[in-house]
Amino acid sequence: MRIAVVGAGVSGMMAAWFLQDEHEVTLFDREPFLGGHAHTFPVSLGAQTVYAETGARFFFDVSFPYLLALLRLLDVPLRWCPTHISFVDRPHRHTVVLPPRSPRHVLSLLRSARMLRHVLQLRRLAESADQVVRDRDWSMTLSEYLRHNHYSPSFGPEFIFPFISASWGAPLAEIPQFPIYSLLSVMRRSPGREAGTYEIDGGISVYTETLGKRLTRTALRLGTGIRRIREESGFVLEDEQGQAMRFDRLVLATSARDAARLLADVPAAAGLHTVARSFRHFETEIVIHGDPSFMPAQRHNWSMINLFNEGDHTWMTDWSGWRDQLPVFRTWMPPQRPAPTPLYCRRAFHHLIMNPENRTLQKRMAELQGRDGIWLIGMYSIETDSHESALKSALVPARELSPQSPAMKLLLEQVHRNQSSPDRAERSG
Ligand SMILES: Cc1cc2nc3c(=O)[nH]c(=O)nc-3n(C[C@H](O)[C@H](O)[C@H](O)COP(=O)(O)OP(=O)(O)OC[C@H]3O[C@@H](n4cnc5c(N)ncnc54)[C@H](O)[C@@H]3O)c2cc1C
Repeated sequence: MRIAVVGAGVSGMMAAWFLQDEHEVTLFDREPFLGGHAHTFPVSLGAQTVYAETGARFFFDVSFPYLLALLRLLDVPLRWCPTHISFVDRPHRHTVVLPPRSPRHVLSLLRSARMLRHVLQLRRLAESADQVVRDRDWSMTLSEYLRHNHYSPSFGPEFIFPFISASWGAPLAEIPQFPIYSLLSVMRRSPGREAGTYEIDGGISVYTETLGKRLTRTALRLGTGIRRIREESGFVLEDEQGQAMRFDRLVLATSARDAARLLADVPAAAGLHTVARSFRHFETEIVIHGDPSFMPAQRHNWSMINLFNEGDHTWMTDWSGWRDQLPVFRTWMPPQRPAPTPLYCRRAFHHLIMNPENRTLQKRMAELQGRDGIWLIGMYSIETDSHESALKSALVPARELSPQSPAMKLLLEQVHRNQSSPDRAERSG
């Protein structure tokens, strides 16, 4: 069959890889590069280069088994990087570094009984992740969970809501409705593992480019945005230059908002269209820059992750150049603040808002997938708003359209091997 995959983020790339052996696959993206939200922007400072991430950056051990299996298969080396988080609490004029790195940080934490209580409750919340994941209860929101489990009433508004809002780059007002399941399932770590994230030398684009090299039987149409889709003995895709191509099957690997736009003129997909347009998003802008005024005021409080609570809004800077202590930063731009200088790169995104309703929409979507030859995949379509969900969502069309896919078989076997030998993923580092 002739299959169009629209969107060359990880979900679309995986779908193309799974389907290309049995079908004639064309992969479209309006951007001129592969990877979508997983995209590295290199900043050269003299002889040194910092590989700053414009999108997906953080991934952990237990919550990313498919990504770790894929990286192992692709032979992409990775390493575990212990991370510290600075939380700058402007309303209370207090900055804490977690975990503390020096006696000064310990003293700063102990100076406020209120902050110490919040930090201990944060620890309790993190420790409850396994139980919450086992319960798989999508209906319980973060604020309900805190209430039911007798966290102090100030922990939410004073600490955990701003903390999560800044970490996700999501609006503060949305955080109390975050499903506790989706929050904690992403943050889970192996027991005894120090807080941190995996990193890929050269950035996440190293892996998307390596995956791109596996797409040997896929026709790549990068820099080709699809403007419109109509039904006509299959599906006719019109690109932004007005060229039209016909396909038998359609996999939309975009955001829910973009999928809804593309399905607007496809009567057969009315059900999927309604579901896709019911997901909600927020607008966000990421800047890569060299301006230290977007970091905590005192240098000894700089961490890899720096969260700012301004009272009515939050924002984050992560220190892309932390490994070599170089001044390259990534900031989720706070409103009304002038752009940093020097400014290296700027990207605007719309990002999914997580709430319990998403699970209902995902179930509805699962019933409609493949009916009339259309599949919707991407990070919003299954589970939580993570890279792992994006990657796994490609299994949905693959299981139907190419159940014997050699690439799918390879990946599933690697997931299984990693599970029976859990240190495997790291040995690739
Ligand atoms: C700033 C940011 C930071 C993030 N950080 C993390 C993180 O640290 N860890 C994590 O797990 N997840 C993170 N995420 C979530 C991230 O979205 C997922 O990890 C994953 O990369 C999404 O993959 P995807 O394939 O679903 O979608 P995308 O990567 O968004 O790919 C969709 C593609 O569709 C293309 N497209 C859309 N419409 C059209 C059209 N009409 N024609 C042609 N092409 C089109 C787009 O150009 C895009 O390339 C982050 C997201 C953002 C925005």
